[in-house]
Amino acid sequence: MTASTANQTLVADGVFRLDDDGRPILFGSRCNNCGNHMYPRQSGCPKCMFDGAEDIELAQTGTLWTWTVQAFPPKAPPYLGPVGADFEPYGVGYVELDNQVRVETRLTVGTPEELEIGMEMEIVAQVLGTDDDGNDIVTYAFAPTGDSSNNQENGDAS
Ligand SMILES: [Zn+2]
Repeated sequence: MTASTANQTLVADGVFRLDDDGRPILFGSRCNNCGNHMYPRQSGCPKCMFDGAEDIELAQTGTLWTWTVQAFPPKAPPYLGPVGADFEPYGVGYVELDNQVRVETRLTVGTPEELEIGMEMEIVAQVLGTDDDGNDIVTYAFAPTGDSSNNQENGDAS
């Protein structure tokens, strides 16, 4: 169950929400003409140029399409994470959500030995830091499936 936590604030409005288990769900769009999925949300389709799309919520799992390792802190702002001696390299990549769309994302692991194109990934919440009011700043990231073994229900596929 969800433990009560410090107040959380999402890193950006209109991009994702947290489900009852605290897992992010990304907001996307689906073209009303060709069915193309888009992230982030947009009203027009870049694939068929149709002007009309419906808001949907995207899959929470996918496969790693490509990746790299961010070995130095990005420019801050907009980067909100630790810098200087506290910085730790992290992975970034594209995850292809199940039958949907490729999403550029931060990855929870940051060493090449842990990353492999095509591996199964799942979305997780990640706290970047705290804001001026002491709220946790929450963003989304993708983790190798089953890697974060804290509260996984890892039964047989049914
Ligand atoms: Zn379209």
